[in-house]
Amino acid sequence: MEIEITAVGGYEEVGKQMTAVRLGEDVIIFDMGIDLSKILLHENVETESMHSLDLIEMGGIPDDRIMSDIEGDVKAIIPTHGHLDHIGAIPKLAHRYDAPIVATPFTAELVKKQVQGEKKFGFDNPIRKMEAGEVIQINSKVTVEFVNVQHSIPGAIAPVVHTPEGAVVYGLDMKIDHTPVIGDPIDVDRLKEIGREDEGVLALIPEALNAGEDGRTPSEKVAKEMLRDLLHSFEDYDGGIVATTFASHIARIKSLLQFAQEIDRRPILLGRSMEKYSGIAERMDLVEFPDVGMYGHRRSIERAMKRVMDEGKEKYLPIVTGHQGEPRAMLTRMARDDTPYEIEQGDKIVYSARIIPSPINEGQRHQAEKLLRMQGARVYPDIHVSGHMGGDEHYDLLDWLQPEQVVPAHQTASVRSEYIDMAEELDYKMGRDAHLLRNGDSVTLTE
Ligand SMILES: [Zn+2]
Repeated sequence: MEIEITAVGGYEEVGKQMTAVRLGEDVIIFDMGIDLSKILLHENVETESMHSLDLIEMGGIPDDRIMSDIEGDVKAIIPTHGHLDHIGAIPKLAHRYDAPIVATPFTAELVKKQVQGEKKFGFDNPIRKMEAGEVIQINSKVTVEFVNVQHSIPGAIAPVVHTPEGAVVYGLDMKIDHTPVIGDPIDVDRLKEIGREDEGVLALIPEALNAGEDGRTPSEKVAKEMLRDLLHSFEDYDGGIVATTFASHIARIKSLLQFAQEIDRRPILLGRSMEKYSGIAERMDLVEFPDVGMYGHRRSIERAMKRVMDEGKEKYLPIVTGHQGEPRAMLTRMARDDTPYEIEQGDKIVYSARIIPSPINEGQRHQAEKLLRMQGARVYPDIHVSGHMGGDEHYDLLDWLQPEQVVPAHQTASVRSEYIDMAEELDYKMGRDAHLLRNGDSVTLTE
């Protein structure tokens, strides 16, 4: 069976991830993401009503026109988790393929939400839900197994394609977390087992996001302890405390809610995406958020903020959008004094997030923080740990899986070459069994 990997998107940037794996005459697509940083460069862009070709020209979604060069039929589209750089292009591209979306239940719900907002294209791909540990048959010789991993959103998996030539492991967006706050720890036993199976691992496609960084990424438990420590230090403060984090980071939000209650404050979630992700997580019983207000629409947010101001800021802990300084997000509007919530001297602003490196984010976040500080706020940045593997975890994963070939993804060529440097320490060789692809390139792994 000829096995070929095609880099469609995410091999020159962090964002718009998409990889096609051809197994003989069948093809599986992994991820179909959007690169918002490219889209935000343009003003007044409303992606929902845009044509995919215009978004491709902009660099905002993967250029999947190269799929017509691949000789095979797409049998499944498999997003690894629900972040937009992995599912955001599904409304624009999936309709071109006569194939189901196969995803874990939480990811599947987010895909549904994503396609609901689409105004240009129809969407009738079936959505099949599959839990970690389960297997789907692609053809008589090929199956895909979902291996549970941990990342900064619930429902993340590493899909493993089992073929007669060995396994192809698509290992994007994960960390080796043994003590997560939500969900099961990463299934290390299963990964090791796959590495020991007779056919072995033909190829590993790892994320290379932090491949050049030394050490290991701390567990989510560590972020939880950092938040516990910080919020308890505010226990006697009788003014405003506001926290912000990734709306999709349900584990982090769960920790924030717990410590808000421990210091006798009522948590409320404010912002459209806060309501969206937490609402889905609660409906799916991933978490219980008893007695937590969630407000997503402008008017209901303003009413909730007025109530907070009337009853006393010291009774509440708003958890809001805006950790990257996004101009229309809640914290940015609060910083501009554009909401009923008044920031006063000494108020605490907790950023449980790190700036996603890009000049736009850095500028916007700097501006928002500056405005908050000008109103007297105390700002606590980086109360956070990453959802991605550090260099040492990459080393371990290679050791467990012992893949014949590696094809790092999800980064610029320069950072992916740092991954390849590390692989070369383990006797891989660039161009022979360690491949540095660019968007549009393919590599055939078997004769
Ligand atoms: Zn992700």
